[in-house]
Amino acid sequence: MAARTMNSTACLRLPAALMGDLREHLFRPDGDEHGAVIGASVIETGRGIRLLARRLFLAEDGIDYVPGERGHRMLTPCFVLRCVRACAQQGLAYLAVHNHPGSDRVAFSGDDMASHRRGYPALLDILDGSPAGALVFARNAAAGDIWLSPQHQIELDHAVVTGRTPHVLHPAPRKPRAADARYDRQARLFGDRGQQALGAQKIGIVGAGGIGSLVNEYLSRLGIGHLVVIDHDPIEATNISRVVGARASDCKPTWLPAKIARLLGWKPTPKVRIAERVAKEANPDIRFDAIEADIVDPHAADRLVDCDAIFLAADTMRARHVVNSICHRYLIPVWQAGTKVHLNDSTGDIADVFSVVRRLVPGESCLWCSGLIDRTRLAEEAASPQQRAAQTYIDEIPNPSVITLNAVAAAHAVDDYLFTTVGLTSPSARAEWIRHHPLSEYFAQLKTASEPGCPQCGGHLAAGPLEPLPVRERSQ
Ligand SMILES: [Zn+2]
Ligand SMILES: [Zn+2]
Repeated sequence: MAARTMNSTACLRLPAALMGDLREHLFRPDGDEHGAVIGASVIETGRGIRLLARRLFLAEDGIDYVPGERGHRMLTPCFVLRCVRACAQQGLAYLAVHNHPGSDRVAFSGDDMASHRRGYPALLDILDGSPAGALVFARNAAAGDIWLSPQHQIELDHAVVTGRTPHVLHPAPRKPRAADARYDRQARLFGDRGQQALGAQKIGIVGAGGIGSLVNEYLSRLGIGHLVVIDHDPIEATNISRVVGARASDCKPTWLPAKIARLLGWKPTPKVRIAERVAKEANPDIRFDAIEADIVDPHAADRLVDCDAIFLAADTMRARHVVNSICHRYLIPVWQAGTKVHLNDSTGDIADVFSVVRRLVPGESCLWCSGLIDRTRLAEEAASPQQRAAQTYIDEIPNPSVITLNAVAAAHAVDDYLFTTVGLTSPSARAEWIRHHPLSEYFAQLKTASEPGCPQCGGHLAAGPLEPLPVRERSQ
């Protein structure tokens, strides 16, 4: 692994189940200190280093975690070696964990820091380029001392537990800035802290068509700091009835033959550029990455791995597969929003109409093991254009689509994201999938689960770059 020199901040993401086990181990009725080790996959991003908690090794009191010669307690050299070797073998960073008493504030003691200086240079040798470090938890706080090399240490900025009700832990409470006057009305609901959290978020939107364009509009007006929007299509005249911000002048006039338009060098506006225009009109300070590409292009998928949330508004099986994989490998929550008009095959009559929102929680709800990624269609979509022509692949009849159906799905998805992010969702709220059937005025709540043994939400959980994404070959 290359030397890490560029990064100055680190954050840690923990799947809720792993954090639940760790919490139970550390915070026992005895009120004492306990120890463990986390093996974390590592990504270096423009936002600093992200550590993804993949393995948890619990240290047994009196055997692996014993009274130390200098400090209060210590992990035994034997336990440390066993864990660091396992981490090195799996390409993971080694993070020693213990707890301190208290709730909202935590820091290492002088003895803790001295033990890092004594121990970590040698551990870095064994880890062969992966970081070594330590984490200390209080009930509602976390701090970290991460060693990238013997010369370069960084502090943990925060830790995120990526469960149904995501939870952020800092070393100490932070005083929020007063919200910008533009956001006064919503900050009265979210609080200055909530508004500041939204401004710090980086959100991916996959698909800038009917639903994606609405999600883009909502997020940019809400004051999200950074959007990454991915779509490879240009706008067409038939999209104007649904794509927010699209103008007639963005599309090829219907009277102009495509051939002549090409000869004149005339090009319709890419959907991502329309999204960018809308977002910047809503918030001139927004950071906006317009990615004119398919999500199955590796360079496009790579742009999402350091997001805080992703909205999936592109309805291909490959898009579902890639985004579902990013959710579980990189511990990023996803909201999939879609609409469907089912027609009766023989009569052509309308059989059902619905808008649906599915929240994917890393390690907990998954499109793969819920049977929502059709393997046959996935293979058909992966075929090259030539192969598809040979298979006489026909599925090109456009589906019915209506802006109001899209709006129900988009608004519900953004609502759900919003209230969990600003911390207003009740801890007892269940992240079930919601389907609205307007013809029968019926809301269905769909149970979500993850199947034991599923590679996507199980084996690959928090694997980060150690498990490649199901994207196109990089050479293409
Ligand atoms: Zn300590
Ligand atoms: Zn699964």
